[in-house]
Amino acid sequence: MNFLIVGCGITGISLARKLAESSHSVTVIDSRDHIGGNCFDYFDANGIDIHKYGTHIFHTDNEDVWRFLSRFTQWYPYQHEVKALVDGQLVPIPFNFNTIEQLFPAQMANRFIGALLDEFAFNKKIPMLQLRESQSKDLRFLAEYVYEKVFLHYTVKQWGVKPDDLDPLVTGRVPVFIGRDNRYFQAKYQGIPLRGYTEMFRRMLEHTNINLELSKPFDRNYLDKFDRCFYTGPIDEFFNYQLGELPYRSLKFNFLTFNRPYFQCNSVVNYPNNYDFTRIGEYKYFLNIRSPSTVVSYEYPEEFVRGENERYYPVINDKNRTLYQDYLKLASREKNVAFLGRLGDYKYYDMDQAVARVLELHV
Ligand code: UDP
Repeated sequence: MNFLIVGCGITGISLARKLAESSHSVTVIDSRDHIGGNCFDYFDANGIDIHKYGTHIFHTDNEDVWRFLSRFTQWYPYQHEVKALVDGQLVPIPFNFNTIEQLFPAQMANRFIGALLDEFAFNKKIPMLQLRESQSKDLRFLAEYVYEKVFLHYTVKQWGVKPDDLDPLVTGRVPVFIGRDNRYFQAKYQGIPLRGYTEMFRRMLEHTNINLELSKPFDRNYLDKFDRCFYTGPIDEFFNYQLGELPYRSLKFNFLTFNRPYFQCNSVVNYPNNYDFTRIGEYKYFLNIRSPSTVVSYEYPEEFVRGENERYYPVINDKNRTLYQDYLKLASREKNVAFLGRLGDYKYYDMDQAVARVLELHV
């Protein structure tokens, strides 16, 4: 068959490869002038892998996804850790026993750790909102502390609402960890593509059955030229926003270069309580590059406004989910168009979930 894929992000690219390998003919279009969507990266003169749309760390427990992508890249075995500035100290996030010991006097820390182990299994993750419901007075104190110092102000900056008014799955992405593992993710496979995401994507698109057209916005008239279309752009845009706009959060990055080997102690430092930015990313850590200068990005969340900035995060709540469901009803009337990806499915996918969605498709 002759397929059109709208959007050359991780979803569109994975699907293009899958269809091409099943001997279909695929055209991928994207309105941007580069491949990779928000996963796009490039190397600066020092060989630092700059993620143009903010830090992207690949992690998955899905063997199929890992094996699929590993056909197109080697991986730098990077294990992501995040530090956050809390009460003047840089502490590990997710909040764990090490964080507790850094922030509280020894006697208090021991009590909190004991109480956590009484209630929860070792090396398990607990959503912060669940910890708040504990029967233990100590744990409720701890939960309020974590809520206030790690989640509340970060979430207000990031989403414009308090954690309680968000889908619990969003803050649940960053749990409290019952143990000493400082890593942000515990997934079996983690890494950064050794030659960058964009190079991995370029190799995925390198197939005689794939035709790529960049700087080419979608036009409904194209549909007539193809047997079937997979649309990975915003589902509301496809339908001309006829039911209203699906809200997104956006980000603004201020990239800075410093003439010194390192700016901070870690690839990502979160600032939940101070400043207007949520975090600072330092890119040389991802592939462990040694160089006399370093590049960082200050990350400022903002509302998505069409034509002014890019979509990053769907704002998942009951109202928006209902609006998305209404768009899905419209979508079901489209005979030859299917929607997928973060924007097509209106879901807060991680990179591996986007790829898994494609691998599970029956096409
Ligand atoms: N979060 C927070 N404080 C932190 C880190 C995360 O409040 O120090 C909350 C915040 O609401 C954020 C969500 O947890 O949007 C998910 O964080 P994650 O790091 O997974 O976001 P991403 O890397 O996808 O932007």
